[in-house]
Amino acid sequence: MTTQSHDSGCVFCRIIRGEIPALKVLETEHAVAFLDINPINVGHVLLVPRVHHANLTELPEVDAARVGALLPALVRAVCSVVKAEAFNVVINNGTLAGQTVFHGHWHIIPRFAGDPVHWPWPHGQKQTQEALSQIQADLREALAPAAAND
Ligand code: AMP
Ligand code: ZN
Repeated sequence: MTTQSHDSGCVFCRIIRGEIPALKVLETEHAVAFLDINPINVGHVLLVPRVHHANLTELPEVDAARVGALLPALVRAVCSVVKAEAFNVVINNGTLAGQTVFHGHWHIIPRFAGDPVHWPWPHGQKQTQEALSQIQADLREALAPAAAND
């Protein structure tokens, strides 16, 4: 692993280490979940790997698998407690995508009828069949090692 296990300047590392307060709802060997300090909706929770990586791009598969495995229990609990029928799970990866805390994490955002969240995103960008086929071929080539390892 090229990344340190924690970063002393990182707000999420400091929460994980108990150096600053947070309303933690789940603490496991590999991850911590706590309430977002500035929630989009009631019950907005962040699921955070204990190990410091700036974003999902850098997160090793083993950590992604361990942390991601907590999602079903976490979303069931959140929806049950805040009585939400639906939720969005979001990762903002990189500044252009809106990431502000550079310790990769999952947002669990419960959804309610009439809530102020603007979703879905605007789809409908036109692509030619040729362009789509080219992207498919390029992605299959890039993902061949992952397919072979699964
Ligand atoms: P992102 O924009 O995806 O990087 O999300 C970062 C999230 O962390 C935002 O939703 C913030 O409200 C939340 N956040 C920042 N500082 C804290 C903190 N000290 N405790 C809890 N949540 C925080
Ligand atoms: Zn960190």
